[in-house]
Amino acid sequence: MAVELAHLRDQIDSVDKQILTLLAQRLALVEQVGEVKSRHGLPIYAPDREAAMLASRREEAQKLGVPPQLIEDILRRTMRESYASEKDSGFKCLQPQLRSVVVVGGRGQLGKLFARMFELSGYQVKILGSQDWDNADALLADAGLVVVTVPIHLTLGVIDRLSNLPDDCILCDLTSVKSAPLQAMLNVHSGPVVGLHPMFGPDVPSLAKQVIVHCDGRGREQYQWLLDQFAIWGASLCPINAEEHDRGMTLIQALRHFTSFAYGLHLRQENPDLSQLLTLSSPIYRLELAMVGRLFGQDPHLYGDIILSSADNIEMIKRFHRRFGEALQLLEAQDKAGFVEQFSQTSAWFGDYSAQFMAESQNLLKQANDNIQRG
Ligand code: NAD
Repeated sequence: MAVELAHLRDQIDSVDKQILTLLAQRLALVEQVGEVKSRHGLPIYAPDREAAMLASRREEAQKLGVPPQLIEDILRRTMRESYASEKDSGFKCLQPQLRSVVVVGGRGQLGKLFARMFELSGYQVKILGSQDWDNADALLADAGLVVVTVPIHLTLGVIDRLSNLPDDCILCDLTSVKSAPLQAMLNVHSGPVVGLHPMFGPDVPSLAKQVIVHCDGRGREQYQWLLDQFAIWGASLCPINAEEHDRGMTLIQALRHFTSFAYGLHLRQENPDLSQLLTLSSPIYRLELAMVGRLFGQDPHLYGDIILSSADNIEMIKRFHRRFGEALQLLEAQDKAGFVEQFSQTSAWFGDYSAQFMAESQNLLKQANDNIQRG
């Protein structure tokens, strides 16, 4: 048996090496694609090409008796690697005649990422950090684009100091809230203004498929190239008005982060043995723990600022708190029928999304399980 197994394992090793060689070949080809795209200013993420390619591979896999999801998983993972390396060849510069790009807060987490992306696209980037205000007039005098990316609670004060920009300079910000910063930018500057919210953190490997929300201030024709530049970086652009954005963020950010915060506090006070919890975890609990735990690996000021950025956020959290209490009353009353009734009504409200979310999360959970190393 040992000899038979060893023989089969040798063959598996040999096939794995071939897969490795083919992967290296694929990555090298994609690198060449990156160079061509960079020269011609094509976005690194091409959704139609990606969808068509995956559909063909799934069909071919089926014919070979290979599960279609397997080839899709492998290719998607490979493409993620390729997107990250495509930026190494740089990006086409859509506005080569632009004067300098000044990133206010450019040594911070998100500022650094954007400064690097602008540099990779051939722009002349200057940083205006917290200690550089003595030199601000000189830095801003020849700015063609100013990007404000400072902590939320300092944003309005910093924008107020930008009243001397050249008339045709584009002023934008990357703040996680939009209404107040956008209004402040419109008040202080008469030229083109756009509010931006990158829906990702500084740890993304590339901007491929990442969403950048944009709220028009004024002068769309003058700043349109900036949105096109983001698309070349791979980002997906999402236009929205600032008030609507902030309303959405009440649920997407404030309530989400707050419930993680409260869950983390609760765990700390219950003080379970985390390593034992992980050993006992189902993949979904492991994911939940990761979602909660990752919050506490980040900057408390950023999350405090996001949650405290509007009274609407706090009202939303209070309503959630009330409903949590109402749901708890069902349990205290041992009201199983009431629980089932609420469950069914909520399930009906989710409608077809329930099935969609089941399918999406199943794939995610399988991946989470793949990544677990038990020993
Ligand atoms: P950060 O604290 O890492 O960086 C902020 C930078 O601003 C620091 O370098 C700081 O020294 C600098 N700064 C402070 N005061 C300044 C001043 N007066 N003048 C010039 N520079 C000053 O914060 P961050 O996480 O990069 O967040 C920056 C902005 O990006 C925030 O508005 C935040 O809402 C937004 N944002 C952050 C993320 C994220 O995940 N980090 C995601 C989306 C949006």
